[in-house]
Amino acid sequence: MTCSKTGQGLLTLFEHNGHQFPAIWQHMLPEEFSWMRLPKERMIDCATCNMVVTDGYRPDTKCCSYFPQIPNYMLGLALKDPGCRPLVERVIAEGHALPEGTTQSLGALQIATAEYLANRFGKSQRLRCPFLNAVGECGIYAFRGVVCGSFFCSNDHGDAGDRFWEDFQNVLRQIEVILSQRAMTAAGIDSATYHAQLDAMADRIDEMYDPATGGTQKWKRKLLFGEFFENEAAFFEACADYVIEHINQLYDIATAEDSCDTTIAFKYEKALEQGLSQAQRGEIQCLPETQGDMIPVGALWYKLQLSARRLWEIPFGEGKVSLNPKATIGENRMDDSLSRLHGDRPAVVSLSGNTASAEPRRYFLWNEEVAILKLFADPVVIEEALFEKNEIADFAEARDFLAECLRKSILVKADCSDAAE
Ligand code: SF4
Ligand code: SF4
Repeated sequence: MTCSKTGQGLLTLFEHNGHQFPAIWQHMLPEEFSWMRLPKERMIDCATCNMVVTDGYRPDTKCCSYFPQIPNYMLGLALKDPGCRPLVERVIAEGHALPEGTTQSLGALQIATAEYLANRFGKSQRLRCPFLNAVGECGIYAFRGVVCGSFFCSNDHGDAGDRFWEDFQNVLRQIEVILSQRAMTAAGIDSATYHAQLDAMADRIDEMYDPATGGTQKWKRKLLFGEFFENEAAFFEACADYVIEHINQLYDIATAEDSCDTTIAFKYEKALEQGLSQAQRGEIQCLPETQGDMIPVGALWYKLQLSARRLWEIPFGEGKVSLNPKATIGENRMDDSLSRLHGDRPAVVSLSGNTASAEPRRYFLWNEEVAILKLFADPVVIEEALFEKNEIADFAEARDFLAECLRKSILVKADCSDAAE
């Protein structure tokens, strides 16, 4: 992708393995990312949203029951897009953004975590993301945050898929933090001074929530934005200009020797943490580490590469594999909401849980997939001869399907003692 000096190429999406990501992400990660095979996540269809059908999510919010951390330069890029600008200006005016990007004050976190603990994710209007537009769509889709861009309520690869997306979020989130601090300083607010100011406000943490807007009180924003107060849009656009100017060095900046010098307002973060109960703290991902060293971006990228490789591993010639004894293949009878949602797939494989009370996990299948699974009714070694059988040779995505079934324990090593998980 080319990117002009005005950054026009960053005001869009790039497609990778069926996913549409903010265009800037491909510049934030090493070139190898363009060859990384990502899970397609065929189990979900966000247009119809299975969670509305099966779990009672609100159709006007779905999983956008969440306050996203959008870094300052992404807000700036969104402001450069005339379609997004009015919405971003409103979010800024409501006090949802500080110089680092969008953040929540303690009062907002307390409300959100109480809703999560009451099992109201997806169901509560109070959790509605401020970036949802009037028709219930993401108003900043090409500029959305890392958690938003890599959240899938169900995945093709079971726990291995969860780990992959978690590692994906970890590396991009770390890069975002580093770049937002560099951009902030370049745009005119020194990052170290900003964090020292936050620390100095720690004992006023209870006074920061603005109940009228759900954002942060004016006095705090005035102190932190300084000369940019009430001219925040210009500041965020200057942050965007920093990443546009350094578009070919973003990963290098994130992995430079001094990248671990990123600042954290320890005292302020500690006060945030103490304002939440133990249970509430477990509900949020946005509190940065208040102790320990920052993991270098290079190490996080390496971990992601390993997770990506594990997604597609097939135990080729390594002992026999069979259908999990706890798996049952049957007809999709379309007798409940989930089976009706997958009504185009004629079959289902059900995996009974490890306890009598656990609901079986169900995966809906095409006939070609059923034919492949039946090859494993008796234990077989996965080797070239198997791929020559008509059932597999005729199905273009057979290898991917086998990898997914192995990750989800639909297929297991024949000598595996705990076959269900
Ligand atoms: S990720 Fe899941 S909950 Fe969110 S919109 Fe898609 S299907 Fe619905
Ligand atoms: S930023 Fe967009 S994708 Fe993320 S929660 Fe908000 S509306 Fe949803």
